[in-house]
Amino acid sequence: MSAVGEHGDGPPRHPFDVVVVGSANADLVVRVERHPAPGETVLGSELAVHPGGKGANQAVAAARLGARVALLGRVGADQHGRLLRESLEHDGVDHGHLHDTPAASGIAMIAVGPQGDNSIIVAPGANARVTEGDVLQAAPLLRSAPVVSLQLEIPLPAVLAAARLARRAVVNLSPAAPVPDELLALCDPLVVNEHEAALLLGVPGEADRQAKSLLALGPRSVVITLGADGAVVAEDGAVHAVPSPRVAAVDTTGAGDAFTGALAWRLAVGEPLTAAAAFAARVGAAAVRRPGAQDSYPTMAEVEDL
Ligand code: ATP
Repeated sequence: MSAVGEHGDGPPRHPFDVVVVGSANADLVVRVERHPAPGETVLGSELAVHPGGKGANQAVAAARLGARVALLGRVGADQHGRLLRESLEHDGVDHGHLHDTPAASGIAMIAVGPQGDNSIIVAPGANARVTEGDVLQAAPLLRSAPVVSLQLEIPLPAVLAAARLARRAVVNLSPAAPVPDELLALCDPLVVNEHEAALLLGVPGEADRQAKSLLALGPRSVVITLGADGAVVAEDGAVHAVPSPRVAAVDTTGAGDAFTGALAWRLAVGEPLTAAAAFAARVGAAAVRRPGAQDSYPTMAEVEDL
């Protein structure tokens, strides 16, 4: 059998535009008047439970725009795992490679202060059980997709194995952590926000320079997201600014995942990086107009209206 999508005329025959290898968490959200100091207890609002996790968020963001997406990862065989599967299914994300695991599903305990200021504790649970073996078992799936999208909420050996198999790896180095040079060299692009860029480089700085410095670490291309200021793209030694539309921001939770999911899809359909980032910035902007992460992600019609 020939590799899917590589031969012949007509539309591509690969089953998925984007395969996301990454985390799925239940976000347990409580609003608080103020964040507790160490040793202190505060009363909060009623608990709200939302599907989240960087991997699932990116997958849903791309699928809601029309991409064909699969998510590879792990959830527990528990109530949160069922919630996560339901939300993926609702948006048409394939979860056949999201394995049930004898561990609790990953959760993020999120306290939201009066100004929308978050403090977050993640218990990775089943996400920590994603292995290199899981990835190798799905090698044909990963090889068939034009883009594999990765983040750092699952163990590094699984991320590295997926990047090695990918035709093109979009790698969101978040949460920021030191990674081997081999992974950096496989990023196309490496996607980070300003804070993560500063952590990786050891110094804060102006975005254009940071992008060039990151490019010097070895990735094939770099995108730094800049919140309301959009993003910068660095490729082949050149840096391009990408604006974000002006919107009334209500909640920026998950904006970076919306951006990365959209970026991965546009690259998968063959768009050049700067144009794909410009589209992704519109998706990120649309996402901050509504509360929540996945709940806030736009459809294609909403992006076109922006
Ligand atoms: P988060 O961690 O909250 O998910 P992030 O820090 O990873 O987000 P940001 O740089 O804040 O990512 O946002 C990603 C993209 O979303 C930006 O590049 C931009 O296009 C869009 N965006 C974010 N905040 C705003 C805003 N206030 N106005 C317009 N666009 C925004």
